[in-house]
Amino acid sequence: MNLAERVGRVQPSKTLAVTTRAVELRAAGQDIINFGVGEPDFDTPENIKDAAIQAIHKGLTKYTAAGGTPALKTAIQSKLRRENGLAYGLEQIIVSAGAKYSLYSLFQILLNSGDEVLIPAPYWVSYPDMVLLADGRPVFMPTRPEHNFEITVEDLRASLTPRTKALVLNSPSNPTGSVYTREKLQAIAGFLEDKDIYIISDEIYEYFLYGGAEFYSIASFSERIKAKTIVVNGVSKSYSMTGWRIGYAAGPAEVVKAMETLQSQSVSNPASIAQAAAVEAINGDQSSVAVMLEAFTRRRAYMLEVFRKIPGIQCRAPQGAFYVFPDVSALYGKSYKGQKINNSLDFAGALLNASGVAVVPGAAFGGDNYVRLSYACSTKNIEKGLGRIAEFIEKLV
Ligand SMILES: *Cc1c(COP(=O)(O)O)cnc(C)c1O
Repeated sequence: MNLAERVGRVQPSKTLAVTTRAVELRAAGQDIINFGVGEPDFDTPENIKDAAIQAIHKGLTKYTAAGGTPALKTAIQSKLRRENGLAYGLEQIIVSAGAKYSLYSLFQILLNSGDEVLIPAPYWVSYPDMVLLADGRPVFMPTRPEHNFEITVEDLRASLTPRTKALVLNSPSNPTGSVYTREKLQAIAGFLEDKDIYIISDEIYEYFLYGGAEFYSIASFSERIKAKTIVVNGVSKSYSMTGWRIGYAAGPAEVVKAMETLQSQSVSNPASIAQAAAVEAINGDQSSVAVMLEAFTRRRAYMLEVFRKIPGIQCRAPQGAFYVFPDVSALYGKSYKGQKINNSLDFAGALLNASGVAVVPGAAFGGDNYVRLSYACSTKNIEKGLGRIAEFIEKLV
């Protein structure tokens, strides 16, 4: 018997595949340095863990409202008003099992078969597959490093068609680290204000900014742009809570209501205990964010300094998130022990096998000239790992 045609369109997340292979090699006794992971290496802060333990003791262990507890929705509502200048009613906010499920359900409720979704490339791995799972058509908008991997109004004008249903924006970006300035975002907002499309703004790396970069939500520029924007965010990256699975979306009430219906008929509700923990994350002491940011800032500087000295690699300074995205394409055509390296998959594969260093091939993000390295890992490992990369490159002929 055949599986649904739908599942044949998608693949398991390529970033997870690298991590899986790295874990396998480590289990087999190899000394592996993993730059592949897309999560902070910090523990979830104690105050947040305590809130979860309290929630268990208080018996908050039952189903909650499908769209999230009033306590968490209220915390998110205050956060969006306080930090982003965005006023939403509670009926405009939904809590989900990670920002990823917010994005997944958005595509499910927005797209009809063949509807187009504009995705600036390089992009976060899951956007195209999520669009495909919703019977939509991902339309990639290639960007260039010279343009800071950003799209412009001209790019949008060229890409819009009568079938365009939505644009995905991700600033700060995973994997490129680019952060749109206020002016650039405002120009895009101005152009899209009277267009009949939704804007999905993935703001999950909001707090991770470097070198004076500032964060703006595109929804904050006018009421008209806010009315067509769905802001997606969550606690995974900000509070090192990736395993807790809490994300959220805020936007037009009819969109949020449809997401809530989908959620009620699929996962019912995000875990009650994790929701209680997320209330503390958002309302409680924020000092853990500053501690993480300080560490990432130091590691980023160190990584950039080392990369500058490795010949054959071009590494731009990311302005946000916690990844570097070096261009390794100058090394394509070379060989490692007789094995030709022609693309990012070859590069990442050879590097992992030869040196025990895991990086994510840029092909996973629609950028085959690049590989992605997370600096959400210890300085000691960064030092060791980059040393091994330099040695690996020296051996290429
Ligand atoms: C990590 C990540 C997400 C998903 O985060 P959740 O853990 O599902 O909340 C969404 N978008 C981007 C760009 C990410 O890197």
